[in-house]
Parts: sequence; structure tokens; C-alpha cells
Amino acid sequence: MKQDETAVASFPASRLRRLRMTEHLRAMVRETHVGVQDFIYPLFVVPGTNVRKEVSSMPGVYQMSVDRIVRECAEVRALGIPAVIFFGIPEEKDEAGSGAYDEHGVVQEALRAVKRDVPGLVLVTDVCLCEYTSHGHCGIVRGDEILNDESVELLVREAVSHAEAGADIVAPSDMFDGRVGAIRRALDEHGFVNIPVMSYAAKYASGFYGPFREAAESTPKFGDRRSHQMDPANADEALREVAQDIAEGADIVMVKPALPYLDILRRVKDTYRMPTAAYNVSGEYAMVKAAARAGWIDGERVMMELLTSIKRAGADLILTYFAKEAAALLERRR
Ligand SMILES: [Zn+2]
Repeated sequence: MKQDETAVASFPASRLRRLRMTEHLRAMVRETHVGVQDFIYPLFVVPGTNVRKEVSSMPGVYQMSVDRIVRECAEVRALGIPAVIFFGIPEEKDEAGSGAYDEHGVVQEALRAVKRDVPGLVLVTDVCLCEYTSHGHCGIVRGDEILNDESVELLVREAVSHAEAGADIVAPSDMFDGRVGAIRRALDEHGFVNIPVMSYAAKYASGFYGPFREAAESTPKFGDRRSHQMDPANADEALREVAQDIAEGADIVMVKPALPYLDILRRVKDTYRMPTAAYNVSGEYAMVKAAARAGWIDGERVMMELLTSIKRAGADLILTYFAKEAAALLERRR
């Protein structure tokens, strides 16, 4: 018997609708379950005190100062969400993105404060330079080239600095070659052998990042990120990217964005069987919010459907701006 003929009886003996007749039956045979434990909630840390400024293109998402981040993290933990990921927007930006590896940088301060006041929450940090550089690029720029190896040296300093301030997981998002291995070696040398690396392994040069760049104030002043992020048309290359990061010591691999790349997610999960994350990015969030506000879709329903699709495609973890809203909804449904 060929595999695609397995257990397929024909109508009328088989009526697939039988198991769809009530919610109790549907729940019993449901294959994919989205739960609060799947979520990682992104947070944007800014300087100052008592700052809580909504990102206009991402309703419900705020830039917050460290004191407000602490309160937010307490709320996140109370909802049962296990982890947050920090992005930092420094007071001042420079060519070398030095705010990224400053021991008193915004993310480092947030890490110390949340570790102290909200124990048990897993603190992930985004490791990149684009929020910290005056030109908005992910690394050191010479002429019109974004340099690889020189930039990796700075990312290594940033990752170690985050670990020293209390990060539980570091997540390099730059897509430069060799950065996972370099970060792994440096963490080990500094005694952080048990700090995992979650690599943005297959990250595409995507138009869906638009609203994030407002939130992170990281729009490049010139050029774009196509010399390091992946071409949306490529799939086999994503597997090579992921293989390389695993070989260099990545503990969790990520596909970003999620929805236009569910095929990549499925191939990555099937090929490597690694803990796999997907980033449900700002543009995906903003589209749902905008259409729901216009009354064109049922926002909650679409939110749960798309989170389910990401899980079904193979994600173990979902970085999503919907985390709090979805957690509250799942709690109400229990
Ligand atoms: Zn970047």
C-alpha cells in the first residue's frame, strides 16, 4: 500500500465531517495547540523614566523606559508568558553602535532591573547594531559596504555584555557570516557556557519589517540590508544558513518573518529537528490590526488562526507582538 493510501476509506463509509460536528469532538482530534508557553514577547527599551510611547504603526506596542519595562514584564509573567526579548534604543547613536555593548546601555539596565524584580522570566536579548548605529546599518560601514568580520567583533562584545548583565539567551539577528561561532566562543571564554544562542538563522530582507523600524528607530539612512539578509526567493539557501548556524553552536534556530515563509519553517523543522522559532514580525501584526480596526476582519480570530499556522508549520516558539493579547484570550477560553 502506498503511503498516501493509508487508512483512507471512501465515502460513504468515511465521513470526515463526523468528527467536526461538535466543539468537543473537534477539540479531541485537534492536531495543533497554541499555548502561552510558545510565546516570546518583544519589548523596546528606551532611555528615561516613566516613558511609555505607543508605536503608531503597531497599536498596543510601546517603547518603554526601564521602570515601565519592569512593570510590563511583571504583567507578562502574570499572563504565563515565559520569555521576553529586548531591543534597545540608545540615548545617542554613533558609527560603531557603541550603545550596544555599553555596560550601562538601556538593554543592560533593563536586564539587571527585570532580573531583580521579576525573577523567573526568561530574558532574551536581540544582538545587533542597527538600533545603535547612526547610519542604521547592522554593522560597521566602509564606503558602501557593510563589513562582516569587523562587525562580528562588535556583536561578540554586545553578546558578552548582555550575558554579564543577566541575559538568559542571546539572539544574534544580524545575518553576518560566522557570528554564531564567534559569539559561542566568547561566551564560553567568559564563563557563560550555559547561555544558549538563539540565532536568527534564516532571516529574509523583507518589506514586513516596516513598522519595527519605527519602533526600533533603525531605518537605514542609505542603502538596504540585502547584502546580508536573504533574498525572499531562496529556500535551499535557508537550509545552508541554518546548517551553518547549527554547526557553529546555535541552540535554537529562527526563521523570520513567519507568515510569508511557512514553507521554510516546515523544511527547517523537518530537516534539522532543532528547537525552532519563528518571528511573527511587525508588518504581519500591523496588517491584522489595521484590517480589524477597519472592520474588515475579526482581529482575534485572525490572530489565533495565524499563530496556529505558524505552530502547525513547525515552530516550537513564536516571537510575537500578539503574545499578551493571545495569552489573555487563551486564559478566557480555559
Ligand atoms: Zn540589524
